[in-house]
Amino acid sequence: MPADLILRGATVHTVDAARSTAQAVAIAGGRIAAVGDAAEVDGLCGPATRVVDLDGGMVLPAFQDAHCHLGSSGHASTLCSLEGSSGADEHLRRIAAYREANPDREWVVGSGWSMSDFPGGTPSAAALDTVVPDRPAVLTNRDYHGVWVNSRALELAGITASTPDPAGGRIERDEHGAPMGTLQEQAMHLALDLAPAPTHADRVAGIRAGAAYYHRLGITACQDALVDPAWQAAYEELARSGELGLRVRGALQWDVGRGEEQVAELVERRRSGTVGRLACGNAKFFHDGVVENRTAAMLDPYLDGDGRPTDEYGIDMYDRADLERFVRMCDAEGFGVHIHTIGDRAVRESLDALEAAMRANGRRDARHQLAHVQFAHPDDLPRFRALGVIANVTPLWARLEEYVAELTLPFVSERAGSGMYPFGSIVRAGGALAFGSDWSVSTPDPLQQLATAVARRDPLGSAEEPLLTEERLDLGTAIAAHTIGAAHACSLDDVTGAIEPGKLADLAVLDRDLFTLAPAEYLDVRVLATLLEGEVVHAEPGSPLDGGP
Ligand SMILES: [Zn+2]
Repeated sequence: MPADLILRGATVHTVDAARSTAQAVAIAGGRIAAVGDAAEVDGLCGPATRVVDLDGGMVLPAFQDAHCHLGSSGHASTLCSLEGSSGADEHLRRIAAYREANPDREWVVGSGWSMSDFPGGTPSAAALDTVVPDRPAVLTNRDYHGVWVNSRALELAGITASTPDPAGGRIERDEHGAPMGTLQEQAMHLALDLAPAPTHADRVAGIRAGAAYYHRLGITACQDALVDPAWQAAYEELARSGELGLRVRGALQWDVGRGEEQVAELVERRRSGTVGRLACGNAKFFHDGVVENRTAAMLDPYLDGDGRPTDEYGIDMYDRADLERFVRMCDAEGFGVHIHTIGDRAVRESLDALEAAMRANGRRDARHQLAHVQFAHPDDLPRFRALGVIANVTPLWARLEEYVAELTLPFVSERAGSGMYPFGSIVRAGGALAFGSDWSVSTPDPLQQLATAVARRDPLGSAEEPLLTEERLDLGTAIAAHTIGAAHACSLDDVTGAIEPGKLADLAVLDRDLFTLAPAEYLDVRVLATLLEGEVVHAEPGSPLDGGP
């Protein structure tokens, strides 16, 4: 069969097992028909073949985002978005502007504020009252582990000095016990659940917005790491009509507040949620929270502001025996189990739970995965390979930004801090690595993920010290984690993630070859085109692939 499209004139990085490069790639029927030197590929040129000369640059398998929140982040971009704000004043200005522009909304709902912009990471209701005095306001922070509320929202939620902290959560209080305006972890829901939920149409529009954004970044597949039934319905609608523009692996939310009766529901949801480009085959658990609000589960105690050990070790979302039982049941039903693990104790206990499940149910190609792995005890690093558990990590966080230097490192033991984001160690121990952005916690731009993974610092911030240089990755390893590695975490590696004959033609075309550049220069590289099954879903205007096929 002659090719529909031939790309040549760029270096093709195939990300095959040998990490080989080629000069040209031919696409027929949405799949890779041939990859090799110009002569091999030209043999597939027929009268109707479109031949595109790229005149330099780089072709690689399209990026995949192994852990993100595509739908909710796409939707959030249409509400009071504080993404990219810095400083308390800018946050308040943007909130005030949103309130003024949306007089008819009964609530001010938003997201994207940063803990590092407020003393102690806990902004106050009083501050929010100055810009939203008249209506309830609830704003989720950029890591989604806490909300900032105003007095009206506290009042509607009935939160007073006598309200106890809910299980797995904390109401931040003043010295008299009165709520101050920040609600952590499970306490978030006291306010969030009162705010108007997005409608089905809002959700569908959010997914579409997210997919269009991902195409511009060269991404064609992702794992939505927290899919509840309402979001699943929106994904299913798009998948059934063929309009879902990304391959989406859905990680179905395990509701912390409920028990094992959920297993049967997840099985049913997987059945209906496996259609078109959607496959809801993972189950998502949270073992812990995050370090910055002391909810990450740590092996060593947290330190106080003066470096003295406290008696806090973080929180556990589940009783240990419950976690083991739930994980074992999901494994027995064939789910890939995806567990949020920030602290080293969360990593250890989650690996224990997965190991126990394998002992009970037998080993299989399960694609179990731990998300983030901010801290891991050196003894646990070889267990990723031994158990076949994927480290689904977030490379953009692995730098000594203020947030880490001021809100993280001073409060954890030296031993924990000395092994933060141990990506290089996991790779050296033979573990499988996948990159996810956790959008909208962080930008989903793959070029920024790669630059940070290679440099271990803000690629443009020359003043910033690299974070643990021994944990750097080489560019080839980093690209693999963002393509075939992420595909492995999304159970898409049999059909995508590398440029090999027979695989789907999901490709990214960059204007320059990353291997010829320093990390800081990756940020100037342009995504000229993104192809999904051979179809151009993004082309920069005026670039060689603009205008078809
Ligand atoms: Zn996440």
